[in-house]
Amino acid sequence: MTDSLTAFAHDKLAGLESRSLRRTLVPTHRFDGLWVQRGGRRLLSFSCNDYLNLSHHPAVKAAAIRAVEEHGVGAGASRLVTGDHPLLSELEGRLAALKGYEAACVFGSGYLANSGIIPTIMGASDLILVDELAHSCIWAGSQLSGAKVVAFRHNDMADLAAKLAEHRTGALRALIATDGVFSMDGDLAPLGEISALAQDHDAWLMVDDAHGLGVVGDGRGAAAMFPGAKVDLAMGTFSKALGGYGAYVCASAPVIDLLKTRARTLVYTTGLPPANAAAALAALDVIAAEPERVAAPLAKARRFTRALNLPEATSAVVPIMIGAADAALAAAAALEAQGFLAIAIRPPTVPAGTARLRLAFTAGHPDAEVDRLAAAVRSVIGA
Ligand SMILES: *Cc1c(COP(=O)(O)O)cnc(C)c1O
Repeated sequence: MTDSLTAFAHDKLAGLESRSLRRTLVPTHRFDGLWVQRGGRRLLSFSCNDYLNLSHHPAVKAAAIRAVEEHGVGAGASRLVTGDHPLLSELEGRLAALKGYEAACVFGSGYLANSGIIPTIMGASDLILVDELAHSCIWAGSQLSGAKVVAFRHNDMADLAAKLAEHRTGALRALIATDGVFSMDGDLAPLGEISALAQDHDAWLMVDDAHGLGVVGDGRGAAAMFPGAKVDLAMGTFSKALGGYGAYVCASAPVIDLLKTRARTLVYTTGLPPANAAAALAALDVIAAEPERVAAPLAKARRFTRALNLPEATSAVVPIMIGAADAALAAAAALEAQGFLAIAIRPPTVPAGTARLRLAFTAGHPDAEVDRLAAAVRSVIGA
């Protein structure tokens, strides 16, 4: 006897399984930001976004532990009630200064940030233009806003200009939203050109720099590489190079005040736990103090792309395009047999037919292991 919900789930899973699109959780013990224990094997991970290995940095861990001792494990309520512990405003001040903005707002996660920010500023009479490869939570926030949402071809400025020309006049307000560093491709958005188009068409620009902060632009993120660009909403996370959890957006003071008053994913959710805020602050200290660490992930990624004659890496993320989902799974399994964790990324995370190995390089990856990975990838994909 199965009820109809259970039967529904069973059929859905069987359908996904038959297309190599079913996903499963695999318990993974991360020892140090590099090595993991998974499925009974010890593997060198090229699949963690912990680009600076700060998840296990002694000073970052110590800051989190101290915060637990001083402030407890939870914020206790929404920030708008009693959850606005002092570490949050300290962190917001640091982020605003680092990014060169008047103010910042910390959110519980990147997903919460994007799904709260966009509906706060955009509504039914408005237009949102989104790069087709932008992160899922930019799409989620855009859809929640009720605005007209139009995709533009990835990093294609002619297409963005055409879509602005076609749709802008019918909308009250307009927003262009893009990743700064694309999470599954590792390339940079041309923020100078996007910003110019935004200004030409009276549109606001929001950049999600989850994979840029701490890695590109001397650690200040993708926008720092485009000095003339005007980014109205500079969003990013503590979950990638900062090694922890949580997110932020920087903007002008009135915009931040509006978000703190109205963003549903801030108002109706518990504040970020104190330990996460303390860890982010300590991680920002490490980033400021150790430019060599900040430069390392990109250097490792470039060592790898040079070894395989791939286009030169522009971030810590390097995709190895495979195509079919089952072939990507097989390639990942072959690398795992050689001691490397390189997770296959399949649709719908990436477009159909572009399943890939997504390699993430971190500061601590030994050069010899990067070279060994390059040789392993070459043999697996027959390059
Ligand atoms: C990881 C990621 C997010 C989500 O951040 P979380 O803090 O993990 O929720 C948002 N945007 C981009 C581009 C990301 O890569």
